[in-house]
Amino acid sequence: MKLIPIIYHNLEYPSHINANIKEVASHFDVSKLDNKLVNHQFSLHTEYSATHRNFSSELINNYPTILSSQSKSKNSKPILWISEQWAFEFADFIIKLLNGKVPKIIEIHPPNKRRTKVETFMDYYEIFRNTLLDNGIDCEISIENRNGFMLSGINDFKNLSNEIDKRNSNLKLILDFPQLLNFEKAKKDIPILKNTMNGIKGFKHNVSSFHIWGQKGRSAHMGDMSDYFNYNERLKELFYENIKELFLHIEKDLYFIPEINFGIKDKKSKKDCLKNIVNDLENIGFSF
Ligand SMILES: [Zn+2]
Repeated sequence: MKLIPIIYHNLEYPSHINANIKEVASHFDVSKLDNKLVNHQFSLHTEYSATHRNFSSELINNYPTILSSQSKSKNSKPILWISEQWAFEFADFIIKLLNGKVPKIIEIHPPNKRRTKVETFMDYYEIFRNTLLDNGIDCEISIENRNGFMLSGINDFKNLSNEIDKRNSNLKLILDFPQLLNFEKAKKDIPILKNTMNGIKGFKHNVSSFHIWGQKGRSAHMGDMSDYFNYNERLKELFYENIKELFLHIEKDLYFIPEINFGIKDKKSKKDCLKNIVNDLENIGFSF
């Protein structure tokens, strides 16, 4: 297999890597996609419910269920996957934004409510998927884990993956490793890290993408994997050994998205951090 590099926030890859697919934001405050971006291959990154949206565009004002999912208070966030109607409006919002373009991938995010049943989510997802298909948008759709949301830990991944298999759905799974390891409290503990990585075996056949980024203290999306594991080389090695064992020899290629928002002040730029992560992966045998 190979890793297919996705360009995240214009972050430059080392020069030997040829990256052609750009991530394009399409959260609920976006009303138009940049033509320059969508004339190339792109991955559409949809609403993820991390922050209050202004809902100021004419476009979003066509969708009463989406509007009603966010209360007016300053810190409230749009709530995802609340009903069949929400799923339909979400699809229609994306169809209008795409305006005839078809992305390579659409990235979606799980329901905010931890206890949402996977069956209910998949019912809503199928409405979303079918609405897109009816409008000629036939591309890979993948869902990312988010801590505190329906898809947080290993068991959530297994449950969703089983439901995907049961329905013969082509929904794919994005493995955001740092979020998963944080949720499982695996970043400081060798047995828990081993166990967590081992748990991925149960659903790896549905995985389509990796997200990797560092963390410094409580600052997420900062630095590289040495920072993430607080310079504990054994933990970092164990993490990569497991990725290698799980994925290096599978048939299909996987997307790679380096979600690095910050470097380490006076030490490493964002670009250095990406270079380090690429090096780590190449050292264990992956190619891009
Ligand atoms: Zn991510």
